[in-house]
Amino acid sequence: MPEPVSATASESVANTTPWPERLATARHEREGAQRWRRRRVNHGAALDFAGNDYLGLALDPRVAEAAAVGARRFGAGAGASHLVSGHLAVHEALENALAEWLGRERVLLFSTGYMTNLGVLQALADGETAVFQDRLNHASLIDGATLAGARSRRFHHRDSSDLERLLARSRAAHRLIVSDGVFSMDGDVADVHALANAARRYQAWLMIDDAHGIGVLGEHGGGCSEGMGSAEVPVLVGTLGKALGTGGAFVAGDAALIDHVTQFARSYVYTTAQPPAVASATLKALEIVRSEPEHRARLNANIATFRREAQRLGLPLADSTTPIQPLMLGDEARTLRWATSLERAGIAVGAIRPPTVPLGQARLRITLSARHTQHDIARLLDGLAQCQREVAP
Ligand code: PMP
Repeated sequence: MPEPVSATASESVANTTPWPERLATARHEREGAQRWRRRRVNHGAALDFAGNDYLGLALDPRVAEAAAVGARRFGAGAGASHLVSGHLAVHEALENALAEWLGRERVLLFSTGYMTNLGVLQALADGETAVFQDRLNHASLIDGATLAGARSRRFHHRDSSDLERLLARSRAAHRLIVSDGVFSMDGDVADVHALANAARRYQAWLMIDDAHGIGVLGEHGGGCSEGMGSAEVPVLVGTLGKALGTGGAFVAGDAALIDHVTQFARSYVYTTAQPPAVASATLKALEIVRSEPEHRARLNANIATFRREAQRLGLPLADSTTPIQPLMLGDEARTLRWATSLERAGIAVGAIRPPTVPLGQARLRITLSARHTQHDIARLLDGLAQCQREVAP
């Protein structure tokens, strides 16, 4: 029997509860989330350690100005899907610039990362495909394989020998290995070379979703697979709403892959192209990423400062060297108490609980940005030290 597959370790709510009860629980959860969201909105002035604007480009005036120029030049919306008449010169320019930067033959733009993963998996996999997924893969990768009608087999987190054990047992006609590049709730990085070796040994395809690595990792910001080409990582997904500071996403690969995805990814074909202002802003953001390595250097200095001081305080750091720095508090209520206390001090962090992470692994998801000053980080550390002292365990 294949294992049931759910979004990142959401086994705890897997299909055992009768559905009306599950609905009630889901509604309750959502109301909680809504209240949390409203508090966030009201707290607009909070120091943000919860977002994914790793290089600070979402607030860069040059990027905002490029959005305005794009809107004035091309209009507020694309007006149609890419394959009808919505593919504008600015989309084409962005695809070409991304392809050149990443050293791939072609790139295809999507409106969101979620849609990219659904579309690419649905284009590449079917009922004859075994999809091998890291246990902590993002929900969109799990959902994409399900939508494709493929069988997902999950291997232990970052464990290529477990992956190879599953590959060796597989009799599927087609095999596709899928992994996050940087794991979104843990901040650790896939061993892409080990995955590529496994793919080569077992004639599988490899797809890396480097949503959190693009712009951040690698000497040139090319992500966790920088320096590896289509031969090793044939399917590379990146998102633009994180380090690039705008929105949308892409898949990069060789021309045959991109032609295939263009024709068969339903979330590409049947949707309006992203607003040209976004593509225009992203072109500017990419230019900055390529020409101003100082943002990455500042981000890395912030990560080092935070980790050093958090270690000194004895905070439960995870094994991450990326901007995603979770504090593993374990208990859900405790996580909420810490987040609320920080919020009162004007500091926003993510309070991540099951089913997004496994039961007993609730955490504060703290994210660092090049935009943070040393003073901001000192305020965060003060707030955390106060939680240690004053918030009931
Ligand atoms: N993949 C990963 C690993 C992510 O963390 C996210 C966003 N949280 C996505 C895909 C989806 O990207 P988007 O927000 O552009 O839909």
